Amino acid sequence: MNNIRTRFAPSPTGFLHVGGIRTALFAYLVAKQADGQFILRLEDTDQKREVEGSAEHLMESLHSLGIEYDEGPDRPGDFGPYRQSKRLDIYIKWAQRLIDSGRAYADPYSSEEVQKFREQAQKTKQPFLYRNHRPENPPAWDGSQPLRFKSDPKEYEWHDEVMGDLRTGPEVIDDIILIKSDGYPTYNFAHIVDDAEMEITHVIRGQEFLSSQPNYLNLYEALGLEKPIFATMPHIMNDQGNKKLGKRDGAKDVLDYIKDGFLPDAMVSFIATLGWNDSTEQEIFTKKELIEKFSLNRVGKSGAQFDQRRLLWTNGHFIRSLDIDVLYTLCQDYWPESAKNADEDYKKQVLTLVQERMKYLAELPELINFFFEEPAPDLELITSNKQLKKLDHNRIKELLELSRQNLEQSNFTHGDIQEQLNQLLDQTGEKPAVVFSLIRIATTWAPASPQLNTSLAVLGKQTTLSRIQKAIDLLT
Ligand code: GLU
Repeated sequence: MNNIRTRFAPSPTGFLHVGGIRTALFAYLVAKQADGQFILRLEDTDQKREVEGSAEHLMESLHSLGIEYDEGPDRPGDFGPYRQSKRLDIYIKWAQRLIDSGRAYADPYSSEEVQKFREQAQKTKQPFLYRNHRPENPPAWDGSQPLRFKSDPKEYEWHDEVMGDLRTGPEVIDDIILIKSDGYPTYNFAHIVDDAEMEITHVIRGQEFLSSQPNYLNLYEALGLEKPIFATMPHIMNDQGNKKLGKRDGAKDVLDYIKDGFLPDAMVSFIATLGWNDSTEQEIFTKKELIEKFSLNRVGKSGAQFDQRRLLWTNGHFIRSLDIDVLYTLCQDYWPESAKNADEDYKKQVLTLVQERMKYLAELPELINFFFEEPAPDLELITSNKQLKKLDHNRIKELLELSRQNLEQSNFTHGDIQEQLNQLLDQTGEKPAVVFSLIRIATTWAPASPQLNTSLAVLGKQTTLSRIQKAIDLLT
């Protein structure tokens, strides 16, 4: 095949959530695996819906995920401009071709007249179609009326790389608007012109456009254009899989995920596997692997489920694989106030401990607070603990006392602490779940913390002993 060119064509009407990014990512992968180009085109012809700052926000979202486009509004190429609002003369030129060939006409009707046609259709139980009302002698198009396509209704059979072989009848084809009365083209017309002018080979887009596809096929023919390859992405569904992912189900701005410390590579791996797999069980992919392995015909036809827990799991996986110095740099902005002036070495030791369990970077403060400030005791952690709630008050105090005496003997290397802790088990006759939980709670007052011996070693002997003593005092 000739040079592969794909595009992502969002309208600047808000932020990008995982659904939009997935479409962009798949188009990017198809281009990159063929050494082709991936293009960003802003479809901003619906001025009423445009949201200020959204275009910049979209571009920043793609940049921050490393889904880099070769051409776009901020990456000039040979096929620009890359904003539809700057291409109006191009649409007029193509519209003129259709007028000249008798395939477009000025729509003379007022909205009241159209309303009457609709009511008529309703009364006779017929579907309303504009093409049933083509004016016999349309006025010359002066730009003040909408310009309509004179369609050629027929059956279509076509192939969609994701949805398979599709077929529709002539009844779904109508005279769609090409240019609105405000002088802007409709999406329906503009995207076909742009895809042709920009030499796009693959049109990869969301399911909401599938029902209009027969009209597009009709337009390609009228314009004498070769059809690109089509791939329609199914919706992304919520966790329960029962409805389209919406804002309430966590369809949040991808830039917010990045701000919360979701790693770009993790986001890319997670989003790629929303509805795509490489036919194995593999769930984590590097971008390089995705470029190698991705194929449109392995994208599922039915909606993929957005699972927040899988996203956290994926991100945790990527965090664990980071070199500690890299993680340290990434965490720069996430340390709590109490750690701001702490020693770098100490911070790295703490990070090493929590790296195993960290799911996203913004979670850092709650994982590590007790390493930097005196934790506030919360006796409920003891009274609600499965093992500890069986013991009486005095026994708990006694165990803490024994722990303190015992750890006092340690030189506080990891190994030595562990040895002392094991001795403590013999000495008290209690299970690890009892003694270790108790020490863990008394020294951290946190619901969870890293492995005990390593945590204590990082906390240091003095802090450990004084916290255990405080707990004893509290129980006295
Ligand atoms: N502007 C359309 C949208 O925002 C793009 C559809 C397409 O990719 O052709 O959904």
